[in-house]
Amino acid sequence: MVEIKTDGALEAMREAGRVVARALAAVQDAAGVGVSLRELDEVARAVLAEAGARSPFLGYRPSFAPTPFPAVICASVNDAVVHGIPDGYRLRDGDLVSIDCGAELEGWTGDAAVSFIVGTPRPADLALVKATREALDAGIAAATVGNRMGDVSHAVGAVARSAGCGMPRDFGGHGIGRRMHEDPPVPNRGRPGRGFPLRHGLTIAIEPMLMAGGRDDYRTDADGWTLRTVDGSRAAHFEHTVAVTEEGPRILTLP
Ligand code: MG
Ligand code: MG
Repeated sequence: MVEIKTDGALEAMREAGRVVARALAAVQDAAGVGVSLRELDEVARAVLAEAGARSPFLGYRPSFAPTPFPAVICASVNDAVVHGIPDGYRLRDGDLVSIDCGAELEGWTGDAAVSFIVGTPRPADLALVKATREALDAGIAAATVGNRMGDVSHAVGAVARSAGCGMPRDFGGHGIGRRMHEDPPVPNRGRPGRGFPLRHGLTIAIEPMLMAGGRDDYRTDADGWTLRTVDGSRAAHFEHTVAVTEEGPRILTLP
C-alpha cells in the first residue's frame, strides 16, 4: 500500500533527511587515506546519536540477507556496488567509496547515498561518479505531479546507458516514509508514461547504482550483503529521498 504524506509529514521527513545529510557530510569529511570503514561508521553513529535519531540500517534484515545488518552506514569500496559492511579495511589513495545512510526521527525516515574518491582520482572514476550523479538528477527532475514512475525509471536508466554503464538487476529505489522501504518500487529502468502515477505527497528514494563495466549481473560476497561487479569494474551509487509536490520535486535529504 502506498501512503501519500500530509504536508506535516513531509516537514517531519525533511528533519530526518537533514540528519542523514549531516551524517553523510561528516563521513565524507572524515574519509581519508588510512581511515577504516568501521571508523566511518562510528562518525555516522555519533551524528545520529547527537540528533536523537535511530538507524533504520542497524539490525535490518531483508529477505535476501542471512544476518541482520551490523552498522548504520553501508560502505562500498571500488568494485562493491552497494550494501558493503563497514569493517577494518583502511582506505587507500584512489579508492572510490560509496556511503549509504538512513535516519529515523520522530517516526519518519530519510535515506541517501553519496560516492566520492579518496585522494588521487582516476579519470574513469570521476566520469563514473559524474554519470551516477547525473542519473540521480535526471530521476529527480522527472519526479513531478502528472508523471508516472516509468518516467523516473526511464530518466535514471537512460543516463546510465548513455554512459555505457550497467545497473544491478533486482535492486533500485523505493517508496519511503514511516519505514525505509515502502511501496511503490522505484526501478532504475522503465518505460516512460507507465507505472504508478506521481501525486503530491508521494515520497520516494531514487538511487542509481552504476557499474562501469556495462554488465547488469553482479555477485554477492560470502557475507550475504555486499554486492560486487562480476568483472571487477568499479561502481558508484547516489541516492536522495524526494517528495513529489505541486511545486515540483523537493529533495528531503539536503543539509
Ligand atoms: Mg540508501
Ligand atoms: Mg534506499
